[in-house]
Amino acid sequence: MNQRYSVTPIGFVRSCFKEKFAIPRQPQLAPAARGVLEMVSPFDQGDAVQGLEQVSHVWLLFLFHEALEEKPRLKVRPPRLGGNQSMGVFATRATHRPNGIGQSVVKLEKVEAGRLWLSGIDLLDGTPVLDVKPYVPYADIIANASNGMAAGAPGLIPVSWDESALSQARENALRLGEPLVELIEQCLAQDPRPAYQVPAPERRYGAQFWDLDVRWHYPRPGHICVLEVVAAAS
Ligand code: SAM
Repeated sequence: MNQRYSVTPIGFVRSCFKEKFAIPRQPQLAPAARGVLEMVSPFDQGDAVQGLEQVSHVWLLFLFHEALEEKPRLKVRPPRLGGNQSMGVFATRATHRPNGIGQSVVKLEKVEAGRLWLSGIDLLDGTPVLDVKPYVPYADIIANASNGMAAGAPGLIPVSWDESALSQARENALRLGEPLVELIEQCLAQDPRPAYQVPAPERRYGAQFWDLDVRWHYPRPGHICVLEVVAAAS
C-alpha cells in the first residue's frame, strides 16, 4: 500500500539561527537560543493555546525544510560519530530522514494568542512547525533510558573573545534585547566545525546569529576565539 497523507504547518519559527552551521545538535544545549513560533490561521487565535501557560516545556514537531530529499536514505553519517561512520537512519537524529520530521523539547517562555516565545531551540529560521504538544514529565522522563551512541551531551571547548568582538557583542545584545554573548558562547562551545576537519589557526569560520555575522578561529586546537560580531551582509 502506498497511501499518501498530507500535513500543513501550524506555524513557522522566527529563530536566532539564520543558517544551519553552528546550530546546536539538540535543543537545551544553548538556553540563550531564542525564537518565536508564529502561528498561522486558524491557530493564530487564543483558543488554540489556552492552558499552555501552565506548561514549562513543549514538544515541537517540525519539518527539516532545508534538508528535504526525494530519495530516502537507509543509512546516515551522524556528525556526532565524526561523520565517517554510518548508522541506520532510525538509530539517529540525523536531519536527512523519511518525511523530514524533526522533534525538539523547548522551553516555553511566554504564551500569546498566535505566538509562542521559546528558548533552548535548535531550529533554523523559517522552520515549518507541524504540531505543538505539552511536555508531560511523568510520561516523558525515563530515568533508566540509555543510548550507547549518545550517552551524554557533547563535550564543550573554551571560548574566548577579542576585546573588540566582546564590545560589539555587548552593544548588539542591548540593541536586540537578547542574551547575545551567552548565545555565541553556548553555541561555539559545542564546536560547530565538522569533527573530521582539523582547523588551521589562520582559517576563519563564521555563522549568522540574528542579524549579525559572527567570526571566529581556533588559535590552538580545542580553543575558539571570537574575532568579530558585525552586521550581516543582507
Ligand atoms: N532535535 C531535533 C531532532 O532530534 O529531531 C533536531 C536534531 S538535528 C541533529 C539538529 C540540526 O538540525 C541542527 O544542528 C541544524 O543544523 C539542523 N536544522 C535545524 N532546523 C533545520 C531545518 N529547518 N532544516 C534543516 N536542518 C535544520
